[in-house]
Amino acid sequence: IIAGGGNTSVKLGERMWIKASGHSLATIGPEGFLELRMPEVLGILARKDWSADRDEREAQIVRVLLNARVNPPSPNVRPSVESTLHALMPQAFVLHTHGELANGVTCSRKGEAAFRRLPLPRKVRAVWIPYVDPGMPLAQALAKALKGYQAKHGVPANTVFMGKHGILVAADEAAEADSLMQACDETIRGELRRGARKRRTEIQVVDRDLEAAVVPALRSLLPDPTWLVRRIEEPALDALLSKDLASRAALLPDQVVYCGTFPLWVPRPRSLEPEVVRAAAGEALQRFVEKHARAPQVYLIENLGAYAGGATEKDLRNTSEMFASAMRMTVNTRPFGGPNPLTKREYAFIDTWNVEQYRRGLAAGKSATGRAQGKVALITGAGQGVGKEIAEGLAEEGARLVLVDLNSATLNETVREINARHGAGRAVAVQANVAMEEDQRAAARLAVRTFGGLDIAIANAGILKAYKVTQFPAEAWRSIIDVNLVGAFLLAKVAAEVMQYQRSGDIIQINSKSGKSGSKYNSAYAASKFGGIGLVQSLALDLIEDGIRVNAICPGNFLDLPLWSAPGGLFDQYRAKYDNATREEVRRIYESKVPMGRGCRVSDVVRAILYILEQDYETGQAYNVTGGQEMR
Ligand SMILES: [Zn+2]
Repeated sequence: IIAGGGNTSVKLGERMWIKASGHSLATIGPEGFLELRMPEVLGILARKDWSADRDEREAQIVRVLLNARVNPPSPNVRPSVESTLHALMPQAFVLHTHGELANGVTCSRKGEAAFRRLPLPRKVRAVWIPYVDPGMPLAQALAKALKGYQAKHGVPANTVFMGKHGILVAADEAAEADSLMQACDETIRGELRRGARKRRTEIQVVDRDLEAAVVPALRSLLPDPTWLVRRIEEPALDALLSKDLASRAALLPDQVVYCGTFPLWVPRPRSLEPEVVRAAAGEALQRFVEKHARAPQVYLIENLGAYAGGATEKDLRNTSEMFASAMRMTVNTRPFGGPNPLTKREYAFIDTWNVEQYRRGLAAGKSATGRAQGKVALITGAGQGVGKEIAEGLAEEGARLVLVDLNSATLNETVREINARHGAGRAVAVQANVAMEEDQRAAARLAVRTFGGLDIAIANAGILKAYKVTQFPAEAWRSIIDVNLVGAFLLAKVAAEVMQYQRSGDIIQINSKSGKSGSKYNSAYAASKFGGIGLVQSLALDLIEDGIRVNAICPGNFLDLPLWSAPGGLFDQYRAKYDNATREEVRRIYESKVPMGRGCRVSDVVRAILYILEQDYETGQAYNVTGGQEMR
């Protein structure tokens, strides 16, 4: 069941219970059914005084259907526009799907001839309806086909094949309806097996270099800056991906609704130079928009694969699943003469049909607004502490997250919490060592694969070990430089590799007030942070020509976080610095150093990040967030 397509109903006397719009056939429970008065539904077909205007007529029909409801759970719950089809079947139980096996026949060029030749078992009494526009025309076509079947065979039909649409079965017992559906599926499966030529299956390896270039470029050129782009994983595409596929209209109305009538074709760029890649994607997009006057929702990239675009997880899922399903249907049309796409007149009808626009609206997720809406952020050291709180703060503002940490247990817990609060798919985890270039690159590329690009890269992972210089083990000193400074460089490098294709992006280093002035017993930490500011200033100059900004945030001490306040934390470790003062005395000493009288909070840092995202006339800066403690 893709995107809630298909429907089911049961009749009892003069009443019919039918799945309401907005519920998926895959997951529906009793609460998803609406009770309707049958005579009023069937009255729709008898009435002759409908408006001549299509949209007005369909609106009138929707009003009749709304009035036919018995005790609707809420005034807005609509019966499906296909309620009339269900009411027309004389049997009690009706099951209607847009199944991929049946649609191998109904969406094929030889559709009706193939249907006539199907070796269906005797119990399947099937009629064929060629494609007609949905709504009233389809209901009338069904009424006529059922009457014709009854006249010819003396018994009612129990199965309907609807061209470029799907299949409908009906029986007086639910189990019998199921067995009719299974009989049709089995018959078609048999035909597919007979028609299948032995083909060599080649395992397609995704060209990750090409993906990391073309996909971010394409996403950055889409008209809506909050859209995400995600790979459509469907093996059937391996053999179908071609320029021809992009010039073929949708197979059926659902595909028009969720994927757009045509996908975009993006030819392979001549090289992976950012300018060349952006030109290839930009020209393809511009041609598409000029021709179709709308933004494409599915992107076919030569030698790479198919990708879906959308603002929410739900949009992405509906588009991906529908397109993948249409591709499997396309494969299933092979024994029956190949695909028979919607004609221009047919898809234009769907595209402008307000009933479908209502369904599209129901299917789409709510698009929220936040200060980081639709932005893709990668954060290192996000398993706990400052990184975790930054992740939560940006999720609150609408960002999608790729979270990196060395500790996979705390990282997975952070991802689980964020997805529980903000919806599945909001954050993904990458276990990685920030001192390893390939680890960091894998994280940046996961951002591309999952969300279509990378807008914000936050180098937050850091370690701190405090010793007097004479006691400082050289290995410990080096390891701090490796994580804090080399790690920040590597993140900037792999982020810029992606961002250069977007000509946009923010690289933000979480530095420290120890990046501005020396810190007793913290020679390694302060050196890594001073170095970090030199790194930020230099990379800012490197990357101005790529449209990428590089800045640092220098927070004061997070006195309330476990780093300081946990047993054995810095309050304990620093007692030696202050003549063996108590923990509480150490805390007061640190608070008294801050003109504003309190420790830094991560929410203060998140505000600074949001400021950086909104500012577009600053780069190479190191912003103090220290309550006045540091002013340089
Ligand atoms: Zn349908």
